[in-house]
Parts: sequence; C-alpha cells; structure tokens
Amino acid sequence: MSKPEIECTRVRACKWQGGYSDLTKKLNKKDTKKYGTECNDNVCPKCECKTMYEIKNT
Ligand SMILES: [Zn+2]
Repeated sequence: MSKPEIECTRVRACKWQGGYSDLTKKLNKKDTKKYGTECNDNVCPKCECKTMYEIKNT
C-alpha cells in the first residue's frame, strides 16, 4: 500500500486523500474556449474541487 500523496483542500467536507493518479480529469470549459483546444483540470474524484494539499511525509 502506498501512502496518499495529496489531500483535498476541503478536508472537513470531503476528506479525500490519494495519489496524483487518482485524480479525475474534468473538462475546463473556460480554458478550452480561451485556447481553442481541449483543456482539462485534475480534480478531486469526490467533490471535484481543483485545489489539493500536498501531504508531506515526515
Ligand atoms: Zn474533495
């Protein structure tokens, strides 16, 4: 078992922890329109928020 690398910033509401490869890709409509090419954000698989904390293994 590997340790979780990141956790959702909504630690109270969501509590998701996992690795970068567990993140879900979500189409970023604003950037897709802006750049004219498909842009995706890596989001929390539970609540779809975009910001993650890095978990420091001490
Ligand atoms: Zn989350």
